[in-house]
Amino acid sequence: MDKRIIVAIDGYSSCGKSTIAKALAKAAGYKYVDTGAMYRCVALYVLRNAPFTMDNVDEAWLLAHINDIQISFALQADGTQHTVLNGEDVESQIRTLEVGNAASQISTIGFVRKAMVAQQQAMGKDKGLVMDGRDIGTVVFPKAELKLFLTASPEIRAKRRFDELVEKGQNPDFNDVFADVKDRDYRDTHRAESPLRQAEDAVVIDNSAMTREQQMEEVLRIFRSHI
Ligand code: C5P
Repeated sequence: MDKRIIVAIDGYSSCGKSTIAKALAKAAGYKYVDTGAMYRCVALYVLRNAPFTMDNVDEAWLLAHINDIQISFALQADGTQHTVLNGEDVESQIRTLEVGNAASQISTIGFVRKAMVAQQQAMGKDKGLVMDGRDIGTVVFPKAELKLFLTASPEIRAKRRFDELVEKGQNPDFNDVFADVKDRDYRDTHRAESPLRQAEDAVVIDNSAMTREQQMEEVLRIFRSHI
């Protein structure tokens, strides 16, 4: 019988990590955990409950409340997964630009990361897990049996995000989207706490010139060689 492993997927924003992670989890019959959604939950909790604005974050307040933030994932009848914050399905509420920006800020705080990493490690105790984020192969599961590092050029990622926004009926400016991608790359790679970096033993996949199908084929081939 194949062994059940942990697959850690890291990479820049908008390079298709969650799409490939979900597809791999489905094909393998594994659990999927979107760690970005967890930081988004903390951000949503703060936006809803904190007595301060994001320009003036009171870390002492957040520290006093961090253990009140419980995150889980609920499988839906259609096979998709929704993020649950303290018993409430918040899947659509966490996907806004406001929550994304607050998550980017909140995720730089050391004790927030510590609390999320502890919850993430508990989710991996039975293996059979695909987890995506920025620090999965380096901090959360440094001993993961398979680590993938996804990348694509900033121009290509901006174009993909631009197309997504247009598809959602929005009217974005390409230069704004491109600038946002570059800003997020900078913040993700330069923060003091667990910056995004490639684990030494990660398999790098540059999907700039790959279709989703080609990428999936490549990921499945690598996965099979590790189980
Ligand atoms: O991937 P997503 O955009 O949903 O992530 C939301 C925010 O959480 C990002 O700003 C990212 O920097 C942060 N994050 C993180 N560590 C992770 C996953 C996401 O700091 N493991």
